[in-house]
Amino acid sequence: MRNFDVIVVGLGAMGSAAVYHLAKSGVKVLGVDRYNPPHIYGSSHGDTRITRLAIGEGAEYVPLVIRSHELWRGIEQEVGYELLNQCGGLIMGVHSNAGQHGINDFLNQTIESAKQYGIRHEVLSTQQIKSRFPHFNLIGNEDGYYEPEAGFLRPEKCIQAQLELATKYGATINRGERTISYEDDGNSVTVKTDKGTYSAAKLIISAGPWINELVGGYESVFKIYRQVLHWFNLKDKQKYETYNKLPVFIWEFGGSFDDFVYGFPAIDGPDGGLKVATEEYAASTTPDEVKREVTQDEIDQMYERYVKDKLPGLSRECIRAASCLYTVTPGHKFVIDYHPKQKNVIIASPCSGHGFKHSAAVGEILAQLATSGKTKLDISKFTLGS
Ligand SMILES: Cc1cc2nc3c(=O)[nH]c(=O)nc-3n(C[C@H](O)[C@H](O)[C@H](O)COP(=O)(O)OP(=O)(O)OC[C@H]3O[C@@H](n4cnc5c(N)ncnc54)[C@H](O)[C@@H]3O)c2cc1C
Repeated sequence: MRNFDVIVVGLGAMGSAAVYHLAKSGVKVLGVDRYNPPHIYGSSHGDTRITRLAIGEGAEYVPLVIRSHELWRGIEQEVGYELLNQCGGLIMGVHSNAGQHGINDFLNQTIESAKQYGIRHEVLSTQQIKSRFPHFNLIGNEDGYYEPEAGFLRPEKCIQAQLELATKYGATINRGERTISYEDDGNSVTVKTDKGTYSAAKLIISAGPWINELVGGYESVFKIYRQVLHWFNLKDKQKYETYNKLPVFIWEFGGSFDDFVYGFPAIDGPDGGLKVATEEYAASTTPDEVKREVTQDEIDQMYERYVKDKLPGLSRECIRAASCLYTVTPGHKFVIDYHPKQKNVIIASPCSGHGFKHSAAVGEILAQLATSGKTKLDISKFTLGS
């Protein structure tokens, strides 16, 4: 049986960041993934993820994203390609109590967070949004928040870069190997996969939407929801440049939790479309049962409700669609904690639909937890409970 200091199960956003930091600090680490990351079966695909420094979901997240931006820039230097594009971010809202990501009046919470941390921003009136961003057909009473340092990350490239560097720093990365079970005997952890058995002083479980398969007893905490991403074509290809210069956007246009759409600038050329999505929480699922394909009915509904009148420059033609999985906890919080009953096992489920932007710092935190039991950033709000 091969022995390691730390084993990381799941090499998506969180696990790839953890193996990178562990290997870079000289720890003997094994990373195991059932697929070949980056891949399209978990939570980290679809080309882009929004990042913003002022976090409406809670002040406790701001230090994580600030640190993550520093780390992404450092990783870019190491690998020589771009991961983070700070094209700016626009949040438009009607100050509703719809509770997106567990928060009422997301716009105002974001503004408060920006003020608290001194994050550069502008507060925009409806009229100012209309004149600066005529692409959006506002309901009429939205206020806006513009953050110049917000933007988007390239999730697949982030994972690829961190795994590439982890390998360079000496990590053992086993792809296409499914972890079946583990046992913590109080001194060390034994991990069984479909290809072998390994032991380590600490185990990090960052299995994304598969968490309930590996960690039993927390099905009521970790709920899995299918989400759909859509790329709608531009009506007028001559206008590509103006859509290419858009900020990322989050738009809360009514009082219901699904009166919500977000999107990205058009980045794939005049024929590449513009990516938009909403959020769905109607029924939970599992990675085994989930319907992966996106139907024409779903595309039509998305267009009718969220695109047709709101983004009139987009056509009905959806050139691409993909499903993806959220792992959501009560209150949309993160979990980064030791297992309450297994002292050598660390559970990392920082998703709830807003985890990617923080994942570089989460990887660093996981590495610190596994090696010293202490973290530089405060994670006291991310407990699993007993
Ligand atoms: C549609 C969508 C849009 C999003 N938008 C944003 C956004 O704009 N901004 C933002 O910050 N966040 C966003 N998020 C959230 C963010 O993407 C997630 O929080 C993040 O990707 C979660 O990463 P993870 O490492 O937990 O999971 P994953 O990346 O899914 O990684 C889990 C890994 O574990 C592996 N695994 C599972 N079980 C086993 C096993 N038994 N053995 C071995 N390996 C195993 C899987 O193969 C997988 O590679 C979005 C998520 C989705 C789905």
